[in-house]
Amino acid sequence: MTRKRIVIVGGGAGGLELASGLGRDLGGFEREKAEAEIVLVDANATHLWKPLLHQVAAGTMNSYQDELSYLAQGRSSGFRFQYGRMDGLVPAERRVTLAALVDDEGETLLPPRDLSYDLLVLAVGSVGNDFGTPGVQEFCHFIDSRTQAEQFHRDFLIALARRSLTAEDTPLSVVIIGGGATGVELAAELRHAADIAEEYGLSGSARRLNVTIVEQADRLLGGLSEKVATATHKALTDIGIDIRTGQGVSAVEAQSVTLEDGTVLPATLSVWSAGMQAPPFLKDLPGLDLGKGGRIKVGPALQADGQPDIFALGDCALFIDPRTDKPLGARAQVAHQQASFLRKALAAKLRGQPLPAFRFREHGTLISLSRFEAFGSLGDGRKKGHTAFIDGLAAKLAYRMLHRSHQYAVMGLLGTAAQMTSDLLRRANHAQVKFH
Ligand SMILES: Cc1cc2nc3c(=O)[nH]c(=O)nc-3n(C[C@H](O)[C@H](O)[C@H](O)COP(=O)(O)OP(=O)(O)OC[C@H]3O[C@@H](n4cnc5c(N)ncnc54)[C@H](O)[C@@H]3O)c2cc1C
Repeated sequence: MTRKRIVIVGGGAGGLELASGLGRDLGGFEREKAEAEIVLVDANATHLWKPLLHQVAAGTMNSYQDELSYLAQGRSSGFRFQYGRMDGLVPAERRVTLAALVDDEGETLLPPRDLSYDLLVLAVGSVGNDFGTPGVQEFCHFIDSRTQAEQFHRDFLIALARRSLTAEDTPLSVVIIGGGATGVELAAELRHAADIAEEYGLSGSARRLNVTIVEQADRLLGGLSEKVATATHKALTDIGIDIRTGQGVSAVEAQSVTLEDGTVLPATLSVWSAGMQAPPFLKDLPGLDLGKGGRIKVGPALQADGQPDIFALGDCALFIDPRTDKPLGARAQVAHQQASFLRKALAAKLRGQPLPAFRFREHGTLISLSRFEAFGSLGDGRKKGHTAFIDGLAAKLAYRMLHRSHQYAVMGLLGTAAQMTSDLLRRANHAQVKFH
């Protein structure tokens, strides 16, 4: 019997969990035992859980210590890894194409490749959406990928160090456009990083750093409960973050951000975290029906509309929750649950069994303001009286559990325990901020 091949494109919060789960359930490298061949494709060689990127940007997390090699993970979980960026799809021939892999000097490391599939899962995440705002592409940082977060980190560090180590006594103004979870968490993390820089001898870092959050809506954290948003607003104000709500941005320039009312904010660095869209290359793929934000429209079993062999999950999938008639948001919790669902659903499909329907269970939302505070609402906010507000240590622990549950889905119990131990040891003898 020929083994069927399941190809998963995108090894992020959802895709890597799915590849590891399917690899353990159906995959493996012994042909006679394996029910299917599981192949993961990613444009990067290593995985870093995306909700950590604001910490990479601030330098409070060392991306080199927390990354996971796809090749090694595949070996231990029973999937194969293909390093490359998907750039084409031929649904009639059940084939994806991968672009040539080129190094920084322009040398071709791997030629363009074709990869056939029996079942395909698209889990390619999302990128920032600037809604055509002038100057954003040229002058704003984004922190949607590890490379972008590291670029911001370098620029932030250089700006801090220059002010401390030379006679330049100007403020370091960071303007964050977008008061969602990413924006507020980044603001707190930058404040924390500057405090540590001060302790480590970059004198004046804490005093010179000005962080402003600009949010078009009337309050921060539009998708979260009012109580969490109010608590977050107060905690950020207490640590000196300037918050401008009810203000859109009309343009960004090299050293400034202009608001719709004409106010010009000085900006040594500006960060765009105000909107998301699915990766634009999906628009060029034939046979996919895309909806709002360029996301792939999927049905009850996360099957792409009109394509029985193609599935999508996470940020790039547009799934309408039948209980609210609204699309599920771009959140790690959604990607995680959809990966768990597809782990079972794809096995059922391979065995010719009927496909189940995906049901999202809302467990709540959490916001972490670095070492300062954390807030959250646990339970299903869509049902009245079904949520509990938490803060302080309980919220900080619950937030950490999010990452641990991702590690558990990827590495299992032993791997997660080993990772927790090494994190503890590292924290004891490593710098709290990466200064290189
Ligand atoms: C700074 C930040 C903080 C966040 N904090 C939270 C939080 O606290 N809680 C929460 O629920 N959510 C949070 N999110 C959102 C969360 O990270 C995403 O919803 C989640 O990662 C989506 O998972 P995914 O699997 O759909 O995509 P991703 O995790 O983004 O993974 C996509 C993968 O696809 C790969 N890829 C993309 N294009 C291609 C291609 N053409 N070919 C091959 N590979 C490709 C990428 O390299 C990546 O590995 C945060 C996001 C950011 C940026």
